[in-house]
Amino acid sequence: MEKILLIEDESSIADNIRFALEKDGFNPIWCATGKEGVAALEEHAIALIVLDVGLPDANGFELCKQIRQASKVPIVFLTARSDEIDRIVGLELGADDYMVKPFSPRELIARIKAVLRRIHSQDGDSADGVSTKEKNKIQYGPFAIDMARYQIKFFNQSLELSRYEFRLLKVLIERPGRVLSRDQLMELAWDDPASSLDRTVDAHIKTLRAKLKKVNEGTEVIITHRGIGYSLSESLPK
Ligand code: CA
Repeated sequence: MEKILLIEDESSIADNIRFALEKDGFNPIWCATGKEGVAALEEHAIALIVLDVGLPDANGFELCKQIRQASKVPIVFLTARSDEIDRIVGLELGADDYMVKPFSPRELIARIKAVLRRIHSQDGDSADGVSTKEKNKIQYGPFAIDMARYQIKFFNQSLELSRYEFRLLKVLIERPGRVLSRDQLMELAWDDPASSLDRTVDAHIKTLRAKLKKVNEGTEVIITHRGIGYSLSESLPK
């Protein structure tokens, strides 16, 4: 049974997560403070850490940095504030994923499993000589996606993207030339399209375009197909 270290000060949230983890065959270890969490990390062979950003004795970001100095154990952040997401994604804290409260424990478990699967498949692949680094990277034209860092470079410049901008752009880059309807984009880039409040594909495309334009004014990257949807241009320079 894989041990999941849960560092979360709210016991009601922690209880829900622990229950869900146990139900799914994991062995959760709960700590309510950062200090206890660090001690538990030294004591146990931890497969993954679920880390709350707002702890009574520590800031989750600082704790993450501290953990990263000694350990590569995957970290999934829990945050109560959407304005913290940009820090998680943008600052290269070395987080593997995050959840915004409130969330369903089931969704968190799905994320945890996805992160662990990714890590395990990297372990398995390292023998064939292709480095993990390269496997996590997708290249197309002027774009380079670095999945490990949740980062997309455009003409060698890192784009500062929100979560959905990142996902939308990734979906498009992976399917150059293919016209995708708004519904398809929602389906591919949103976790739970039906219940998401953030359902404005057009708005995200608009902000994405502005960010791309800032790096390269002249290139039309995302093409609008009136009444149908969007596609990524197939005639992009390298
Ligand atoms: Ca908290």
